[in-house]
Amino acid sequence: MSLELSDSIQWIKGVGPKKAELLSVLNVSTIRDILYLPPRKYLDRSEIKLIKDIRVNDEVTVEGKVVSVNSRRSRKGKLLCDVSVYDGSGIIVGRWFNQSWVKDRFNTGDRLFFSGKVEFYRGLYILNPDYEFLTEEETELIHTGRIIPVYPLTKDLGQRFMRRTVNYVLQDFLEKIEEPMPSDMLKKYDLISLDKALYNLHFPENKSLLSKARERLAFDELFYLQLFLTLNRQKARERKGISFEIKSNLEKKFLSALPFNLTPSQKKVLSEIEQDMSESYPMNRLLQGDVGSGKTVVAIAAMLISVSNKFNVAFMVPTEVLAYQHYYLMKKFLSFLSVPLWLLVGNMNQSEREKILKEINKKRGIILGTHALLEEDVKIPVLGLVVIDEQHRFGVNQRAKVRGEGHPDILVMSATPIPRTLALSVYGELDVSTIDEMPPGRIFSKTKWVRNPQNRARVYNWIKEKISKENCKAYIVFPLIEESESLDLRSIEEEAEYIKKTFFSDSKVAILHGRMKSREKDKIMKAFKGDEVDVLISTTVIEVGIDVPQANIMVVEDADRFGLAQLHQLRGRIGRSSNKKSYFIMIADKDSITDRATLRLDTLENISSGFKLSEVDLVLRGPGEFFGTKQHGFPDFKFFDPFAMRNMIGVVRNAVKNVIKKNSEDKFLEEIERIRGKSQFLDIA
Ligand code: ADP
Ligand code: MG
Repeated sequence: MSLELSDSIQWIKGVGPKKAELLSVLNVSTIRDILYLPPRKYLDRSEIKLIKDIRVNDEVTVEGKVVSVNSRRSRKGKLLCDVSVYDGSGIIVGRWFNQSWVKDRFNTGDRLFFSGKVEFYRGLYILNPDYEFLTEEETELIHTGRIIPVYPLTKDLGQRFMRRTVNYVLQDFLEKIEEPMPSDMLKKYDLISLDKALYNLHFPENKSLLSKARERLAFDELFYLQLFLTLNRQKARERKGISFEIKSNLEKKFLSALPFNLTPSQKKVLSEIEQDMSESYPMNRLLQGDVGSGKTVVAIAAMLISVSNKFNVAFMVPTEVLAYQHYYLMKKFLSFLSVPLWLLVGNMNQSEREKILKEINKKRGIILGTHALLEEDVKIPVLGLVVIDEQHRFGVNQRAKVRGEGHPDILVMSATPIPRTLALSVYGELDVSTIDEMPPGRIFSKTKWVRNPQNRARVYNWIKEKISKENCKAYIVFPLIEESESLDLRSIEEEAEYIKKTFFSDSKVAILHGRMKSREKDKIMKAFKGDEVDVLISTTVIEVGIDVPQANIMVVEDADRFGLAQLHQLRGRIGRSSNKKSYFIMIADKDSITDRATLRLDTLENISSGFKLSEVDLVLRGPGEFFGTKQHGFPDFKFFDPFAMRNMIGVVRNAVKNVIKKNSEDKFLEEIERIRGKSQFLDIA
């Protein structure tokens, strides 16, 4: 049997269906996939150090024998495990805190590698070293004596298995890799060939080839992404969209009825949107602005243009809680304009739903909803504009799928600010408008990181006082990934009960989480907006968009479990009223969180503006904590690092331009089709 790169990984020697199943968790299902699986990191075993030559702060790998395994309690009550290794020249300790498995994993006499950063406290030690056992017969060069890859793993898959499998695949399949880039391009951009890059990605001959390999793969990744975005955009511009008549009475009336004037920044982006809407091609625009910068009113103005041109609007938001909030807000604003507004959410009863679906065929208005708008039976007639709020919460593919005939204008909104060059490269098919100032009178929330959880009681007692004396309202937020296990949820409910009983027995407390019925959620949010609830204990369902101006205190429990962007979003829920000081309090035990979490919380304590945060992030951290995760709508690059490799963005843009210029479009598309089957990177766009 002759295998192809596109065949299942299970046919590779030593893999089989069971291991293939495990590999699929790492997004590896074909033989090609494993070639493109980037190692998590590398261990340089080409230069194993003697312990006697090691200095503090060095990143090292040592090879030796375990001479003792020691576990004890520190004075503060932490479990401390020390594994001492001797290599003939000296002794170094591998140290773990609060990891009870350690003492069972290591035995005196084991031969192993330790890798990590060397620290000193009454002797040399490595905190949480990477380790790998060495068996007597272990001589294969793929495991030692060179720079070796360390792969991301899932349960029951070992490094050895991964290395061996990758090695087989490289031996047998590397020659099947076709070079998609013409050689003049490789030369011009100083790139190594694809097969060489893939080989050196896994088993680099030396460090410089490793970085050339990563560079080549990053280049490809960015190149195909930008190529497709550019082509999409060209295609989109050729489409016939709607040329809206911009002078709209509805919009004018709406804006003059607002209790405030638009900020200059809001005016600027609104005119950019209007310009786009008047053009004959369909608008495809990203509106970005920090949390609380006032994107919603701008979006409503655009919606009214569509409605007064007798076109429907679809307005999609990521959560039900947010859908209800926008619904009430817009009802309030729109009732005097007699613009129909429909709310379509997940668990509505059938008759209600059918009624709405019937009505949107008769009248022109705004259909507001959650993912429910994407369902099969929802076809919005005469669709003029699609607005997507908090777009970073939607998958890229979900964005495009609101159904309707023709080519409606599209406006997506995001509160995760991205530096402009970066936005262009990853949202290449979108034009970008940015609101870069806050409405006047905003005072930033005071942010405090409570480093010692023993002070929790003081925090809650202080809040209690604030509530009774100053009429404050507070959120208490727990980290819970909504899809996660019910166990987690139960522990939060218990915790909430405890907090309620202990500190807020005289206050009105409610609990909110994602798995409640939408009616129930809505009822609780209403109560919190009104007088019936003062303390809202919640999961992250309130993370995005929620606007309860009277709420001016937020406590985040286990704050280290949230990302920087997420915490900033949460913080954006308070400080929405100019006449009350607001407080954002993060609780996390400074002694038991990671360095990165410490840096995050420190940064948040010191910086209030989202744009500043993103800049700082860029400088401070390199690979962005801020945009780090998929949930923020950033494409999930495998090789391209938007921060460390940001100079590549301009180079690739030029490469794309040249390629498009050189090829007549037909021929070019053929070429793309040919490549499509051969590249890993085409599905991220
Ligand atoms: P976001 O950009 O986070 O979606 P919102 O649209 O929710 O922000 O606006 C935040 C708050 O600021 C809302 O209460 C809104 O009514 C108010 N707001 C918006 N624009 C202005 C403005 N120009 N002046 C004063 N308040 C404003
Ligand atoms: Mg918003």
